[in-house]
Amino acid sequence: MVKETGFYDMLGVKSSASAEELKKAYRKLALKYHPDKNPTEGEKFKQISQAYEILSDTQKREVYDRGGEKAIKEGGTGGGGGFTSPMDIFDMFFGGGGRMHRERKGKNMVHTLSVSLEELYNGSTRKLCLQKNIICDRCEGRGGRKEAVEMCPCCQGTGVQVQFKILGSMLQQVSTICMACHGQGQRFSQKDKCKACGARKILRQKKSLEVHIDRGMKDGQKIIFHGEGDQEPGLEPGDVIIVLDQRTHPVFNREGEHLTMSMELQLVEALCGFRKPVQTLDNRTLLITSHPGEPIRPGSRKCIINEGMPLHRQPFEKGRLIIVFTVVFPEKNFLPLNNLKVLERYLPGRMEEEDSESMDDDLYIYADLEDCDLSRERRRHRVHDVEDEDFHSRGGIQCQTS
Ligand SMILES: [Zn+2]
Ligand SMILES: [Zn+2]
Repeated sequence: MVKETGFYDMLGVKSSASAEELKKAYRKLALKYHPDKNPTEGEKFKQISQAYEILSDTQKREVYDRGGEKAIKEGGTGGGGGFTSPMDIFDMFFGGGGRMHRERKGKNMVHTLSVSLEELYNGSTRKLCLQKNIICDRCEGRGGRKEAVEMCPCCQGTGVQVQFKILGSMLQQVSTICMACHGQGQRFSQKDKCKACGARKILRQKKSLEVHIDRGMKDGQKIIFHGEGDQEPGLEPGDVIIVLDQRTHPVFNREGEHLTMSMELQLVEALCGFRKPVQTLDNRTLLITSHPGEPIRPGSRKCIINEGMPLHRQPFEKGRLIIVFTVVFPEKNFLPLNNLKVLERYLPGRMEEEDSESMDDDLYIYADLEDCDLSRERRRHRVHDVEDEDFHSRGGIQCQTS
């Protein structure tokens, strides 16, 4: 039993979640609430990151499960009680440049790409259109004519404007980026400004990327386009990181290299054998055939070798297709009573052959089997409650429970 579930709730998972489930939950939420996509949800982004930071670390998760958030804050983890910055968690997770490079390298752009299980099975190529900043090639990122650059008169070339604010009786000095030169410290006279970028040095451009999805790639796998992120003068461009997000499939469920599916059998098929077609993810038809004389039990699993998912980079090796069987029993009165006797002759014998004729009626209480429909039971209780209420209000007590 865990002490509290706050961090689990934050990620929307159960407290029994596996490392894989935690990763998936964090991935979805972190991309949704990243300040680039959702600038007003900074607090939420921080909370998700903190929850993931604790739960993804086996040791810290143990401390949290035992003592809750309090134990984490008190630093029972040996590493002190502080949290890593949400951006660093994000960068570590998505393979960003990390802190060391941040100054010289532009931001990475992370995108999710929704893919079908068929695409992961067969491989596919997808075109992805992105908007990105590129350095203006007309002025080569200078913003205007080379020799025409002059110092910004608003900030005297510092790129910063200092303002004074009155705070109570105090005068406070506030530095802001110079709006006139956007913090560049230099400017061009109107006639020297680059006509293409208006002295912004960068242009917005549509760029299409071809994303190759290899056979056997997994949900959550990253495909990295190095240096395809936003360009900015003086910085090495960041990467574009595509994260695959597999849609759920109506028939197959992927478990690592294996595929699972459920198959419904009629009782006669489970007992007497069956042949059933299954459409594979590459559109072949497998004829699933039972072994003669071997009944299939409800809930049992059988597998077909080499019909699971292809392995990434070894696409001719495949996992297994695992079939979980359910058995549909016949409806009420499917057979006239006298025929049941005939059927019984073919079925394995009862556990205890007791002759009801020889049973002494006085020794037994006959108990009848009824349908046990719990939802109907609950409804009946509610009817009782209402009656009670009526009784009370007649007795002069006013209950406001509408
Ligand atoms: Zn330009
Ligand atoms: Zn300025």
